Parts: sequence; structure tokens; C-alpha cells
Amino acid sequence: MYSFSKKIISIGILLILILVVTFWLGRAHDVGQAALQAKRQVTQLNNYIDTELARFSAIPQLLTHNESLVNFLNGEQQHYSAINNYLADIQQASGASDVFVLDPQGAVAASSNWQTDYSFLGSNFAFRPYFKRAFAGETVAYFALGMRSEERGIYFSQAVYKQSQAIGVVVLKVNVNKFENDRKLLNTSQGSHFYLQLADEIIAMSDVEQWRLNSFTQLDITARRDIKSRRAYLDHQPKYIKQFQFSNEGITHFKIDKSLYVTAAMPLRYFNATMHVLVDISKINAAQVPRLFWAFFIYSLLIIIGYSLLTRFAGYKKLLYSRHSLELEVIERTQALEKVQSALVQSAKLATIGQLSAGINHEINQPLSAINTYLASAKRLLGKGNISALDESLTVIAGLVERVHKIVGQLKHFSKPSDMQLRPYPLAGLLNNALMISSAQLKQDNIHVDPPSFNENIIVWVDALKFEQVLVNLITNASQAMSNAAVRNLSFQVESFEERVKLSILDSGSGIEQHAFGNLFEPFYSTKSSNGLGLGLSISKQIIDSFNGCLSAHNRVEGGAEFIISLSNKQEGKHD
Ligand code: ADP
Repeated sequence: MYSFSKKIISIGILLILILVVTFWLGRAHDVGQAALQAKRQVTQLNNYIDTELARFSAIPQLLTHNESLVNFLNGEQQHYSAINNYLADIQQASGASDVFVLDPQGAVAASSNWQTDYSFLGSNFAFRPYFKRAFAGETVAYFALGMRSEERGIYFSQAVYKQSQAIGVVVLKVNVNKFENDRKLLNTSQGSHFYLQLADEIIAMSDVEQWRLNSFTQLDITARRDIKSRRAYLDHQPKYIKQFQFSNEGITHFKIDKSLYVTAAMPLRYFNATMHVLVDISKINAAQVPRLFWAFFIYSLLIIIGYSLLTRFAGYKKLLYSRHSLELEVIERTQALEKVQSALVQSAKLATIGQLSAGINHEINQPLSAINTYLASAKRLLGKGNISALDESLTVIAGLVERVHKIVGQLKHFSKPSDMQLRPYPLAGLLNNALMISSAQLKQDNIHVDPPSFNENIIVWVDALKFEQVLVNLITNASQAMSNAAVRNLSFQVESFEERVKLSILDSGSGIEQHAFGNLFEPFYSTKSSNGLGLGLSISKQIIDSFNGCLSAHNRVEGGAEFIISLSNKQEGKHD
């Protein structure tokens, strides 16, 4: 539970981190786009205004070469109404606000607006820099407020010469609100603003009315004094407009009131001023919401897919690991069982030897006493020189020694554990060996053995020693079961099938006790109070199983028990 909620918290934190990163990346992208837009717009705006200014600035220059105008200023032509009309035509055709001519004293000699209420005729603009500087030989483009109209305008002026002598000045005035209005024709978005800032930091033009003729810079006293003396803005006092500008990753940000903009600036070519375009990014944070929504959706999906893949992978790894450890456990247990089994086999052998020891004792003692007797008689015969009788005695002794040798030889096999090897053996030979080992016991218990009578060619695939051990065990059990029986008969039957051989060991004993049937082949199950280990049948069954055979038992109808061994008479694949 704890680790589950920990996982949820980690995934939540990861998701939040991803969303924060997405937000900042998205925002940075949008700010970059806005900055590009500002740059594009300022270039577009400047191109437009520069083209217009270039057009207007050419007009005074052309007029200075007009012969009638030169003559008029030179006092040679007195029909000033013709000049006035000419200037009015020029004004009309060019789209300028006013076109007028000043005499060397700065008095208006002719003007395009001569017939209007605000006619300049009779005015003197000698103090205006556009007169002074032009008369001195400069080509002037000068921003100022109109004396009468009080409208903002750019004054283009140039001196008129007669034989290299300045005889007057031609002035063309363009109202700047013309550009402010024309600017609407430019493809700029609602959120954008612009302002044209003069060299003295005053805003000459802007689409925002409150900014016009004011400044984003706090002017010091010298600057203010200079502005006052020039009277460019007449009596207007430029106000400082509070704003905050900062640069972030090379992009200038502009904060005014509650709005935030990115800006781009570019100087005009034909006028000493810099154009600034502002693109609104106030709503840029809110614009990230749909992006965050999608990011949340996609990242959640990715996390869920990734998590489920990881879980599956971990589960698969766990499965592999548990399968591996299960296999190891099976191997370990099998090895342990094999050890136990071989120990059991060994114990069973010892138990069998124990059971047989009395009989063997008798079996060996008997030939030894006989050997003793024959040796004594041999000595006597040797003394008498009866060589032929001596030879007979020695032959008997040799036979007796051979018998002892055989018995001991058989027992030797029981004393050490042996590896199993399945080989083909004649069944008759194996049974005879077992009977020989058990013969002392059988004799002692007064058992009558029906000599096995079956085909000597019947073959079984067994490990001879182990199989004989099984037979000895079954014969011993049969012998013990008949100890109190009136008739003590042990017999064998063999049936041979195509691939299998069935050997039955039949006795005429007490038969298997009814309650013993379920446990007969269980280790340590014995009904014998004193001398039973209860290992014989369980080991015998395991041995027969290892030959791919089968050991079973039932009671005979005529009394006694029958133990059946079924074996293969062909070599089979599974031999350990
Ligand atoms: P043990 O002989 O030490 O008791 P076994 O595993 O050889 O152990 O035999 C288990 C039990 O099976 C015996 O105690 C006995 O009750 C029964 N049994 C085995 N062989 C016979 C038989 N031929 N007749 C009757 N009962 C038998």
C-alpha cells in the first residue's frame, strides 16, 4: 500500500515537472514567435514610411529648380497668386499638408493654403530650425508642431538659390497622423502598437494617442531646456510615461500598465528617428492552457503505457527467476532423495544381511566342520598311504571351499553401494542366484521350494545385483510369512509376453494382512514386531520402478501371497 502511494506520488511529481517544462518551452516558443512578428512588422512599417518620406523629400528639391519660383523669390515676378496656386497644386498632388515658400527673412512669401482660414501668408518662421538650417545650406527633415494648426508634422526644407545666393526656402509639411492612419493599412495584429522615437527621446508618432509627444525616458533639465528653446513642440511639455523594459534571452520586453509586450526597433533611413513595434504577449500564459491539456493527456498516456510495459517486464523477470529457482529446488531435492534412496538401499542390504547372518553362519560353519573332518581323515589316509581315498577327500574339500567362497562372494555385493547398469540377463540365472543366497534361510525355516521350471532364454533388462537383492527380499518375506504355516511352499511362475516378462513369487503363508495393503510399499511399514525394518518392499519397488518395471502384490485365493514383478525384455530409452 505504502509503495503504491509512493509510486503514485512519484508519477504525479514527474507529470508536474513535465508539465512545467512543457509550459516554459511552449511559452519560450511563443515569445520567440512574437519577437519575430515584431521584427517583421517594424521592417514593414519602416519600409513604408521610408518610401513615403523619400517621395516627400524629393519635392522641395524639385521646386528649388522651378524657374517661376526662383524668379518670384528674386522679386522678378509679382503675380504671387500664380505661385500660390502652383504650390496648392503640388500639395494636392503629393498628399502633403502644406507647401510654402519663405523669403530670406523667414516670412511666408507664398503658400499652398493661401485661401484657407489658417493661411500662412503673413507669418514669419525665421526662428524655425527648418528655415535656419535650410537657408544655411542643409537639406532638412524636421519634426515639429505646426504653429497654427498645432498638428504634428515633418518639415522638409531646402534653400532656393540664384547665382549661388540663397534667396529663400521651400518647405513641405507632412502631417504625421497621415502615417498613423495609413499604418492601419499595414498587416499588423490587434495586439501590436508602434511608436516613432526622435533623437531627443520624444515620441513623434504612435497609434496610442497618450504616448504622442511624450517620452518613455525621464528627461533631465538640459534636455527639457533644449526642447523649450527649439520650440519644436511649442508650449507642450512632454510627460514621462512610466513603463518597465528588460531584456530576456536577447528579446526586449516592455511592460506598461498591466500589458506585457516584446519589442523590435529599427532606425528610419530618411529621418533621424527610430521606429519601435510592440507585440502583446500578455495573454501568452493563458494561451498555454490547451497545449498543457494535450501535453497532460499525451504524457499521462505515455506514462501509463510505459508503466504497464515495465510492470509486465518485471513480472516476466520474476517469473523467469521463480522458474529458475524452482528448477534449482527440484534438482536439489532430487539429489537429496537420491542420497536418501541410496542410504535406504544400503540399510536394506544390511538388514538383509542381518536376517541372513544366522543362516549364513550355519551355511559356512557346516562346510568348515566338514572340511575339518575331511582334513583329519586325509591326514590319516596319508599316513596309511591310501592315495586314491586321499584324492577323493581332497576333491570333497575343494568342493566345500568352493561353496564357502560362493556364499562369501555373494554377500560381498551387499556390503558396498553399486551403480545401476541395465543389461540383458537370463531370468532363470538371476532367480537361481537369489535362491542360493537365501537357501540357508529357506532350509532353516523348513521351506519347500518348487524348483523354477521355465525357459532359460527368457531375458530381462535389469541391474543383476539389485534385481537379486529384490528377489532375496521377496523370498525372505515369503519365508517369514510361512514360519507358522502348516504347509510351507515357495513357488515361482513366469509368463512371457511380446515386450514384457511377468515373474510371480508365490507362498503358502499367512497372506498379506488386510489393513497392510495401503501401506505395503511405504518405507518403514512393517507388521513384524521385532525383526522388521519395513524397508524391504519400498526399496524393492523403487528398484523395479528404476528398471521401468512394476511390483505389485495380492493374496492368493488358495491362501498365501503372490508378489508379481513385471519387467521389460527389451532395452528401453530411460536408463539412469
Ligand atoms: P519387513 O519385512 O521388514 O516388515 P517389508 O517392506 O519387506 O518390511 O514388508 C512390509 C510388510 O509387508 C511386512 O511387515 C508384512 O506385513 C507384509 N508382507 C511382505 N511380504 C509378505 C508376504 N509374503 N506375505 C504376507 N505379508 C507380507
